This record gives sequence, structure tokens and C-alpha cells, in this order.
Amino acid sequence: MSNVDGFAACDIAVVGAGAAGLSAAIVAGERAAGRALNIVLLDGAKTIGAKILVSGGGRCNVTHDTVTPTDYFGNRRIIKNVLASRSVEDTIQWFASMGVMLKREDTGKLFPVTDTARTVLTALLTRCRNLGMTIRPSHRVTRIDTSADTGFLLQHSQGVLQARHVILATGGRSVPKSGSDGFGYDLAHRLGHTITTTVPALVPLVLDTRLFHRSLSGLSQEVELTTWVDGHTIDTRTGSLLWTHFGISGPVAMDASRFWTLAHARGEKALVSANFLPGLTQEEARDWFIHEAAHHPRRSLANALASRVPERLAEVLCTHAACNPQQAIAQVCRADRERLIAALTKLVLPIERDRGWNYAEVTAGGVPLEEINYRTMESKLVPGLYLIGELLDCDGRIGGFNFQWAWTTGFLAGRAVADR
Ligand SMILES: Cc1cc2nc3c(=O)[nH]c(=O)nc-3n(C[C@H](O)[C@H](O)[C@H](O)COP(=O)(O)OP(=O)(O)OC[C@H]3O[C@@H](n4cnc5c(N)ncnc54)[C@H](O)[C@@H]3O)c2cc1C
Repeated sequence: MSNVDGFAACDIAVVGAGAAGLSAAIVAGERAAGRALNIVLLDGAKTIGAKILVSGGGRCNVTHDTVTPTDYFGNRRIIKNVLASRSVEDTIQWFASMGVMLKREDTGKLFPVTDTARTVLTALLTRCRNLGMTIRPSHRVTRIDTSADTGFLLQHSQGVLQARHVILATGGRSVPKSGSDGFGYDLAHRLGHTITTTVPALVPLVLDTRLFHRSLSGLSQEVELTTWVDGHTIDTRTGSLLWTHFGISGPVAMDASRFWTLAHARGEKALVSANFLPGLTQEEARDWFIHEAAHHPRRSLANALASRVPERLAEVLCTHAACNPQQAIAQVCRADRERLIAALTKLVLPIERDRGWNYAEVTAGGVPLEEINYRTMESKLVPGLYLIGELLDCDGRIGGFNFQWAWTTGFLAGRAVADR
């Protein structure tokens, strides 16, 4: 379709054909049933859906069986209202309607029964095609202007598109080679929106090479991580930590990373400490140690510790605390014991940096939710503009929560724009 000026024209332009954009387009197309609503999806990437394909280790963790506002960071009051519009059951049904059956794993994560992300992407693209939508890869939007009579003019790498409504679904900055390079923030900003500080979240953390992590590479264990900012505890969480050649990864480290990256970006003093005896205080750990020394006096330190933490960690922790791992536990002097207890329960991890955008699963920060009408995802500043997905200042923890946010915000925008 083209308008009187010769520009291509459509009713709804969706900028970004990732999870949120595809969801919005499909919902708008489904609700428009019968009405000739011309929906065009523009995406800067050559191939659509790169992030969906790599998600969940190639299996796509579509959602989680229990989704609550506390699984997200951002304005929780608004997040609660957004989430209330679409239950997990709705997401499951919606995928089933596209032929994608989901299964729940013990962790509560939901994956396609096929165990491949391709099933999810193919279903979304097939539904778009069946609804008669146009998806245009290699169409990077470089500028969006508003005009009182025609709506919006979008300049993209192949020309110009006029649209009555625009859904901005350009994602964040994580994995820029997927096409989500943060330019969407510039587009939103030029249209009048504020952008809060954006930092990598769900990102592995790089430790000072002098720590022992390299020797534990590949080891995964249950750890309680506490983040301190300017001396105050701001987050404590327990989960699986993976030691790697560069530092730490695994769900608990990834979930905790946003607190460190945000504080670091703000120039605050951020520390992350590890408790290798999750749930135990320093005093309780000391009681355990004294009890061990009394009941198994000839046991080596390393063996005693190995009854509570992985053997490899037991060894390196002794060395780290300047204790002899082979020394009998009853022979350990008080000073050595105290250093060891501190290393066991409150080891400050010497974080040098996060691993960067190429390794971050999401972006913390973005367009403030206060600038959006949470019932429709329409901008409060620019009528006819909708903002959804990771572009917004909301990030979820690991477990399918970020996709649930993308499907839900996409649903709200798609429904609202089609009903206008
Ligand atoms: C490795 C990895 C694994 C993940 N695994 C999971 C998981 O299992 N479960 C989960 O819930 N979440 C997971 N996530 C997070 C999840 O992928 C994102 O939260 C989600 O994809 C965000 O959806 P979105 O549509 O908002 O943005 P994106 O998926 O980033 O899509 C944005 C789209 O906009 C396009 N675009 C950007 N700028 C422009 C422009 N100027 N013009 C045109 N197009 C543009 C991009 O090319 C891209 O296609 C993972 C992320 C990564 C990186």
C-alpha cells in the first residue's frame, strides 16, 4: 500500500520483530480478524528471531509456571498491573493455539516439548504469515517523526514508511549482533521519552585473576550471594553458581549481576560476598566447626570442609585462608579458624567488571514505565506510539520471566492498537 506522497504506508508499523514485536503484531492481526488492517514489521537484522533461537540454551524458556511482580525489577506497581492482564495459563494457551505445546520442568521453567527454540520461532512466523502480515528483515529504522495528519513517518535503511500507529519493540542492548544494539533508545528519546541508565543484567561477572576461580572452572554449587552497596545489603539470593575460567556465572550470579552493574554505573561502591554454607550465619558456621573438631578431631581440614562444600572448593578455600588443608581440624588455631569461617561464609568476590553486552541476557534500565499507559502500553507523551518488551525499564530474573514480559506487553499493545 502507498499513500498520496508515494511513500509506502500501513496502519501499524512494528519496529523490531523479536518476541515482543511478534507478539504485538500477531495479537493485533488476530483481533482485527475480518478488518483489513495492514501491519508491517520492520527489523534491522538480516534474519528474524536470532535471540529467540539462542534463548534457553537453544530450547527457549518461554515462561515460568509462577510469575509474580517480585520476579522483576522496575516499578513493581506498574509491573503488577501489566502482568495481571495475562496469566501464564493465557501464554500456554496462546502457544498451544499456534501448535506449540509447553512442558514444565522441575525448576518451574516452561519449554516447548520439542526442546528446540526453532519450534517457537517457526510458530510465531507462520502465524504472522497466515495473518497476512509483512515482515521485512534488513529494514533498520533510523528515524521516526510524528505528523499531525498522517501519524508517523519512519525512515529505514530501504526507504520511508508511513504508519498510523507505531509499536516500538527494539529490545535493549544485550547481544548487539542479534540486532538489538540499543538504537531503539535513541528513537524513543528523540520522540520525547526519558531513558534511565542502561546496564548489562543477567550477565556473568569477571573476577580478579588472583582469586582461585580458574582452578574451579566447571564446578557448580549452591551459594548464597549478597550484594552490598555503600555498606548496605541490597540483595541476597541463593542458587546455583558456576565457577568459570574468568569468574562466576550460573543462575545466582546472573540474577545478582544487575545490582552490581547498576551500582557500579552509578559510581557507588558495590561488593558481592559469597556464603558457601547457604542459610548458615557466621556464628552457626563456627558452631559447626567447633562441633566437628570435637567429634572428629583427627579429620583433615579439607575433609571436614568437604562434608559441607564440594571437595575442590574445600581445598582452595583452605589455601585461600592461609590454612593447611591437611592439618587435623582439632589442631587448627583460633585465628586460622576465624579466617576460614570468614572465607566460608562471607568471601568478598573481587569483581573486576561484568562480561559485557555480548554475554548479557538482558538490559536493566530503559524507558521508564511511568511514561507508559500500562493498560495499553501506549506512550503518555506521543499518542499512537506504543513501547513494549525489553526496551522498557523492567528486567526479570532468569527462568522465562523476560519472555513473559515480552509476550504480555506485546499482547497489551497489539490488543489496544487493533481496538482503536
Ligand atoms: C543468550 C540469551 C538467552 C536468553 N534466554 C532467555 C530465556 O530462555 N527465557 C527468557 O525469558 N528470556 C531469555 N532471554 C531474554 C530474552 O531473549 C529477551 O528478554 C527478549 O528477547 C526481549 O524481547 P524484545 O522483543 O523486547 O527484544 P529483542 O528480542 O531484542 O528484539 C528486538 C528486535 O528489534 C530489532 N531492532 C533493534 N533496533 C532496530 C531498529 N532500529 N530498526 C529495526 N529493528 C530493530 C532487533 O533486530 C531485534 O530483532 C535470553 C537472552 C539472551 C541474550
